[in-house]
Amino acid sequence: MDFRLTDEQNQIREMVRDFAVSEIKPHLAEWDEAQHFPVDTFKRAGELGLLGVTLPDEYGGAGLSYVDYVNVIEELGVVDSGFALSVAAHNSLCTGHTYLAGNDEQKKKWLPKLASGEWIGAWGLTEPGSGSDASGMRTTAVKDGNDWVLNGTKNFITNATYADLSVVLTVTDKSDQKHGITAFAVEMDRKGIRPGKKENKLGMRVSDTAELVLEDCRVPASNILGKVGYGFIDAMKVLDGGRISIGALAIGIARGAYEAARDYAKQRTAFGKPIAEFQAIQFMLADMATEIDAARLLCYRAAVVKDQGERVTQFSAMAKLYASEVAVRATEKGVQIFGGYGFVKDFPAEKYYRDVKLCTIGEGTSEIQRMVIARNLLAGA
Ligand SMILES: Cc1cc2nc3c(=O)[nH]c(=O)nc-3n(C[C@H](O)[C@H](O)[C@H](O)COP(=O)(O)OP(=O)(O)OC[C@H]3O[C@@H](n4cnc5c(N)ncnc54)[C@H](O)[C@@H]3O)c2cc1C
Repeated sequence: MDFRLTDEQNQIREMVRDFAVSEIKPHLAEWDEAQHFPVDTFKRAGELGLLGVTLPDEYGGAGLSYVDYVNVIEELGVVDSGFALSVAAHNSLCTGHTYLAGNDEQKKKWLPKLASGEWIGAWGLTEPGSGSDASGMRTTAVKDGNDWVLNGTKNFITNATYADLSVVLTVTDKSDQKHGITAFAVEMDRKGIRPGKKENKLGMRVSDTAELVLEDCRVPASNILGKVGYGFIDAMKVLDGGRISIGALAIGIARGAYEAARDYAKQRTAFGKPIAEFQAIQFMLADMATEIDAARLLCYRAAVVKDQGERVTQFSAMAKLYASEVAVRATEKGVQIFGGYGFVKDFPAEKYYRDVKLCTIGEGTSEIQRMVIARNLLAGA
């Protein structure tokens, strides 16, 4: 067991850090305030290989491992988790589902565009009436000749306003609980699909989150991803991978909060000395650093197992659950260490505190992760 990253892995981390620090950080306060999604910067991430991180070279991807992908998302998350969330949804949800379930023709048609950033991807599972209970969705796809006609509304969809391609989960057979859901890849310039209301969010404000509205959207059968009736099963596999990236995103936020608090504690003085010399502050920093390391190890384990091609459901749920809850604790401590300055927007602590909460909700809440873990534990006992 070797816990060191290779030189190449460290170089990738540095490249991502440089990109985030030079191209995202200078604009962050403005983008966050305005809820601005920086399309050009996102496409620039595509030029650097960050929008098809684990896709093979033949589809225009960077051909890297899931461990590398975890590192990419962590590094972006340190600087801006909203941008990182959009990158994660593009990579592991839209692109991930297309790669997992698409046939060769579909992969050749869509993946190079997604990997290069020419196209932006979204993935629509959640609906206004069904999130955790995703199989309770109401969006339908009805067969009509060689086409299918899609109707319904997806909500909370990352990248929906700017997407060129959306993977949409639909009910194709109401009577079949297990095999009643089918995935379609829908080009956003088709008639009958459009982004709807954009959400005004607590955090992750640089990431676009909006509805996806389908009104008699006619799609050819050649846009079905995977087999009819296997959409939900594939979606759960997609989430197994996606959840590792939400864990990495949480670690990025927690690390950003920790590093900011550590640096601040060394220069802020009270009672004649730096606050870093008070044991109360030292213990908070020690807990933050220890928990962040433990969370990262869980994410790496899940990523390594995924790279080995094995089932990762339990490990990814553990990584996502633990990392997101660690990150919530770490950002709260970060604000505390900054004192009053932790409460104002001139300092970084409050943004981490706002952004982090999404990590215990998106791609399955903490309660759902505990259910997944318990189900797997009990099945294997
Ligand atoms: C910023 C953002 C981006 C998102 N991006 C996407 C995206 O790109 N694509 C997409 O499809 N979705 C996306 N989502 C949706 C997200 O995955 C859902 O919000 C999440 O799964 C929770 O669903 P819900 O909001 O309907 O909450 P609900 O399912 O209504 O849950 C409400 C509460 O009830 C609890 N609960 C529910 N069922 C149980 C149970 N059986 N046992 C115990 N507790 C339970 C939950 O844990 C939670 O605390 C995004 C959400 C946000 C906020």
